[in-house]
Amino acid sequence: MQIEAWPFRDTTPRNPAGWLIQAIENNYEPPEAFRQHQRRAGERRKLLSLGEAIERCSICDKNGYRRLEARKSSHAVMRQCTHDPSIEAKISPQAQNGIVEQSSAKDRPKEA
Ligand SMILES: [Zn+2]
Repeated sequence: MQIEAWPFRDTTPRNPAGWLIQAIENNYEPPEAFRQHQRRAGERRKLLSLGEAIERCSICDKNGYRRLEARKSSHAVMRQCTHDPSIEAKISPQAQNGIVEQSSAKDRPKEA
């Protein structure tokens, strides 16, 4: 870790090797820049794995959202996908539909 953190240190000791040994032995705190770098790397990994999950998932679109069919209204309901087929299978595509209205086919407006 001390070696990884080294490029982020704002220090130029006369004996870098000796300084590193000292840093390791005394378990120096990593510089803030290094911690930020690690945090960002972790976030990138998280984003990457989410992207992979979405790509592998056949349920949702490329944004990780699943379209729930709203039969009555023209606008579909979007739901964030879990990318877990065992969970998503329990959610009906009509899950967002409320009461199914009793109306005869004759009264239904013609679909454009
Ligand atoms: Zn998904």
